Amino acid sequence: MIRVLKYLPKYVIGITIFPFVIVRDRTMVLNKILINHERIHLRQQLELLIIFFYILYVCEFLIRLLVYRKWNYAYRMISFEKEAYANEKDLNYLKSRSYWSFINFY
Ligand SMILES: [Zn+2]
Repeated sequence: MIRVLKYLPKYVIGITIFPFVIVRDRTMVLNKILINHERIHLRQQLELLIIFFYILYVCEFLIRLLVYRKWNYAYRMISFEKEAYANEKDLNYLKSRSYWSFINFY
């Protein structure tokens, strides 16, 4: 389910909070790559019963932030993000993706 929330912070284009994909403006709903990226996160969240996804996501981000000391780079190095960014342009990725594929991106 896609929702538009124009009050997202400027640096956030879209965010996935199960079961919603939230984007900053209506035109982004048409961005298939962005929506695919967020759908990959939805799948990751389901596989980790949602709550464990958020726990792992935040923990991994904090560890990577300590290591790299760069906010954006730490974010991009999170395994969930690496999987999503690596496959967002493949609109059929979720059809062939195996369970817990994010593990391959640690
Ligand atoms: Zn992402």
